[in-house]
Amino acid sequence: MEKGFILKANLLEKGIKVSKEAKKILDKQSDIWLMDDYITCSGVTLKYEDTYATIGVEPDSEYELIAEKDKLFITDNKGEKIETEVITPPDYMKDELVIDGKKITVYVNTYTDRTRLQLMSGCSNNCKFCNAVEFKYELNSIKGMEEALEIALAQTNTRHLLISSGSVWPSDLEEITSMYDHFAKKYSNLEIDIMMTPRGFTSYNDSTQYEGYIKHLKEIGIHGLSINMELNHPEYLKKYCPEKYAIGQENYLKFLETAVKVFGPNKVRSLLIVGIEPLEETLKGVEKLAKIGVNPVLSPLFPYGEANFPPKADLFIEAKKKSEEICQKYHVLMGPLCKPCTHNVL
Ligand code: SF4
Repeated sequence: MEKGFILKANLLEKGIKVSKEAKKILDKQSDIWLMDDYITCSGVTLKYEDTYATIGVEPDSEYELIAEKDKLFITDNKGEKIETEVITPPDYMKDELVIDGKKITVYVNTYTDRTRLQLMSGCSNNCKFCNAVEFKYELNSIKGMEEALEIALAQTNTRHLLISSGSVWPSDLEEITSMYDHFAKKYSNLEIDIMMTPRGFTSYNDSTQYEGYIKHLKEIGIHGLSINMELNHPEYLKKYCPEKYAIGQENYLKFLETAVKVFGPNKVRSLLIVGIEPLEETLKGVEKLAKIGVNPVLSPLFPYGEANFPPKADLFIEAKKKSEEICQKYHVLMGPLCKPCTHNVL
């Protein structure tokens, strides 16, 4: 396993403290070097060698971000030292702009090379490890999203756009699809990925609609899909993601397999969370995905709510190592394929 990844796994478990001198450099670089965004994107974003990692700041950590001659380094208590950059978010994420009565980051966020466009706040689902439920369920207006996106694109070198949203009530599915159509047409110059649950035009469970829906997304110019299975074992899924359990793993796999057929290899990924269910269950999930040509993505659990289990570096390292072995067997790569986009996954 690469040394850089082992360090990342340990940082994810233990966090990093920031020395006074390093803080001075970061304060000069940006007012918002320490983001407090949704749970998987909070902390300081480090880039060392070819590793990207968003890490929580912990004053008692054995890892420290220090400064020497205007350069930043990560050190540990064994005397290891590695030079790092800190990637700071663009200015608009100071969140001082209000568009149509909502702060700009209700519509857009940029991390490393990716801008995320949020079609809504809140979620109709109730996953126990996610804080989307803390926000009122409300679709964003196209006008507000467009205005926000223009500002985000002007301030960043966005390489790709991720259209994400919580899940919507079935009665809002057609409206969400019309939003996909709108942004795919208007921003056809950008690589656009959509993160969503399996669905057709009017239903999540009617799998006879899946193929037509996936073909529609391909036709409007969508580049790739992220359909997150989250957990493999049905009992864990039922407890932590009841609505995804209701769609059913069979439907997830059917949707994913059809998406790979329509979009081709390396365009469809699915995330599994490491740290809730036993590792062997996560690995069974990885195998199910790899077998049908999906790029599995491993997400470390960011403790929250009922899934408040401490992160474990050894588990992350083992999960990554074994998942890579499975993927090699099926000649599939682990996702995401873009390095900067790995900042908040394993
Ligand atoms: S579907 Fe996604 S956004 Fe909604 S609660 Fe679950 S993880 Fe959060």
